[in-house]
Amino acid sequence: MIDRACISINNRCNLNCTYCHFHTTEKAIHLAEAEMNVFSILDNIKQHIDKYDIEVFKLGFVGNGEPLLDYEALHEYIEYISDYLAANRIAAYTITNGTLITDEILGFFKEHKVNVGFSIDGIPEIHNKLRCNTHSEVMKAIELYHLVNDCYPSMNCTVGRDTLKKAEDTIVFFEPFGSRITFSRMIGADGISLDEFRCFLDKAKQRLNVRTGGYDCTMYGGMCGAGINNIFYANGNAYICGNCVDLSPIAKAETPIDYIKPNIPEFDRSSCFKESQCL
Ligand code: SF4
Ligand code: SF4
Repeated sequence: MIDRACISINNRCNLNCTYCHFHTTEKAIHLAEAEMNVFSILDNIKQHIDKYDIEVFKLGFVGNGEPLLDYEALHEYIEYISDYLAANRIAAYTITNGTLITDEILGFFKEHKVNVGFSIDGIPEIHNKLRCNTHSEVMKAIELYHLVNDCYPSMNCTVGRDTLKKAEDTIVFFEPFGSRITFSRMIGADGISLDEFRCFLDKAKQRLNVRTGGYDCTMYGGMCGAGINNIFYANGNAYICGNCVDLSPIAKAETPIDYIKPNIPEFDRSSCFKESQCL
């Protein structure tokens, strides 16, 4: 049963992080801006929730770019599902690079129970090298979140070779926040192996509230959940996951959810389906 979706509301970003796999030349051709009626996707999700009486549908406004570059549109999408958010039938979240956050935006997310996570790669030395010297800017945004919400936000940290070398410093950096940390494995040219990543996660889990999952994504330390209960919408299409936009789409974005059948072959879910397709 589909009970999770991510919607990529844009394909653009104001940063150019060294490891960003969304904007590589291989993916760029699959991510040309295309019309996508997000309201019709939201209608389909609402109908699906009602039809199957889904207790909580998890919806991420995350994808191939920085969502706050299109905050006006995001604002409209959130208002469009505000009754489902208020009733806790949709649990919505977004993830930002933190550079465009204001207290007004944070107040709006709070009012509508939209969780906002911040991408921060731990200590300044590593973050600044990978994420365009934005560490102090993101920290200011995180403190602003704290001021508005009286707690620290969830954070996302990409784990690459530098992180492995400074594993202890990275864990120490996140410890004082007490919030949930999603570590994701760096892939691509400077990426690390799944075994290296899992070894880091085991260490981090002893001291931090680390997101791990069952059938979710190996990038976050879980099993590959591709084709099970999640849809990724981008560029006018539906895909099995956000990393698979260069594989064939599984449907047009406006297709009612009941008609979306991922139909992917059996594979070892302790590894990444996408990587198995690219061998
Ligand atoms: S903030 Fe995210 S989308 Fe933007 S360049 Fe960095 S990794 Fe890519
Ligand atoms: S195909 Fe790979 S990137 Fe996609 S959900 Fe599975 S493990 Fe994650």
